[in-house]
Amino acid sequence: MSEFTTLRCAFCRSLNRISLAEARTGPRCESCSRPILIDRPVKVEAEDFEATVLGAGVPVLADFYADWCGPCKLVVPLLDEIAAAERGRLLVVKIDSDRAVEQCQRYAIRSVPTILLFRDGEEIGRSLGFEPDVIRGFVSDAVEAEASARS
Ligand SMILES: [Zn+2]
Repeated sequence: MSEFTTLRCAFCRSLNRISLAEARTGPRCESCSRPILIDRPVKVEAEDFEATVLGAGVPVLADFYADWCGPCKLVVPLLDEIAAAERGRLLVVKIDSDRAVEQCQRYAIRSVPTILLFRDGEEIGRSLGFEPDVIRGFVSDAVEAEASARS
């Protein structure tokens, strides 16, 4: 099975390699035993981008946001909903664009919010600003593609 990724515990900061499919029942940190919550957007620091986002065995929806950005807050309820609905099939992460300068350059992110969809380390979708239909569309395509690839 390949639906693993590396996630940093929000409590003790240790790195955990977890199965996202098993995570449907609720993974716990190996170090401190507290829950690792993936039914909501997971904050990912620049240092963990490679392992968590590019190394994930499921599609990853990455929200590049900024604390000072009003439109970024419009996207949050949609991302919360997708994270809960697709838990175990797709990982939703949020990345503070002010703290991920290298990634913003690499993916040519010039405005926030920019939402990227990754699969197997490659960008396969992009949405600028608040485009719920675009995001829902590429999320459902990616989840269906994963499901048919596994069956
Ligand atoms: Zn922990």
